[in-house]
Amino acid sequence: AYSFDDECDYLFKAILIGDSAVGKSNLLSRFARDEFRLDSKPTIGVEFAYRSIKIGDKVIKAQIWDTAGQERFRAITSSYYRGALGALLVYDITRRSTFSNLKKWLHELREYGKSDMVIVLVGNKSDLGHSREVSEEEGQKLAETEGLCFMETSALESLNVEEAFLHMITKIHEISS
Ligand code: GDP
Ligand code: MG
Repeated sequence: AYSFDDECDYLFKAILIGDSAVGKSNLLSRFARDEFRLDSKPTIGVEFAYRSIKIGDKVIKAQIWDTAGQERFRAITSSYYRGALGALLVYDITRRSTFSNLKKWLHELREYGKSDMVIVLVGNKSDLGHSREVSEEEGQKLAETEGLCFMETSALESLNVEEAFLHMITKIHEISS
């Protein structure tokens, strides 16, 4: 029987995590559909999007999960993390609290996720430099301390979004092939 999945060589799960309103859903819609919403509403239930990427002669299909706003209540369940090979851990450069909370998210990622999970730390909303509360150096430093990759992005201006996801996907491919 024919199915779409027959066309890809690898299929894997990755997740978005971080405080509410840091821009997770917009990063995903930018990457998956090249869309941005000013008034994004939390969706009901876990949502995910797919995107296929060609690396060499292989087709990698990433299934990227987004939260449905449960992070507001710190109620992400372990099934959200289960089987994920990669994560974008997102904070908002204009809200220090979202940066301070990264430790808690990292703790959850390490408790429920795979030990070799590829984690990319993402400082989103780089277009709002005038209201910045977290410097790029701080982000970089935390990433180094925790052994993560780091990037600042803007889902609004489509800056570094593709790079952040592709970095994660390429690294996962390197590890799992
Ligand atoms: P989530 O709760 O982490 O999924 O965050 P959303 O994607 O729903 O975004 C929360 C709010 O931040 C929305 O009003 C978005 O329009 C806005 N937002 C998301 N990304 C950016 C960005 O890169 N720049 C700016 N200026 N606003 C953004
Ligand atoms: Mg969301």
